Amino acid sequence: MAERDAGAGQFGRDAERLRTEPGPDLAGMVDRVSEAPVKICIYPGCDRPAVPPHPLGGPQPSFCDLEEHNALTAHQERRRLEREARRPANNDGKEVR
Ligand SMILES: [Zn+2]
Repeated sequence: MAERDAGAGQFGRDAERLRTEPGPDLAGMVDRVSEAPVKICIYPGCDRPAVPPHPLGGPQPSFCDLEEHNALTAHQERRRLEREARRPANNDGKEVR
């Protein structure tokens, strides 16, 4: 009997935790958007400004107006760069001259 009670108590605690998390996070995001209107494309190595937010509202895209720069290609490029960075062979054996 006592075991059953403990289980129910734990479940209740988890549910409360989930409920409180999104609150402060959302408020922070709204504040940031209004203070920083200039956003730079997050594609690796790209310095172009991100596409401006839609005049009717909505979140600003994180990428510039290049078609190749989107969430998928940025992810692939990051993985490629990571893989290349893990190979130390290039700079070690050869002298670059
Ligand atoms: Zn870009």
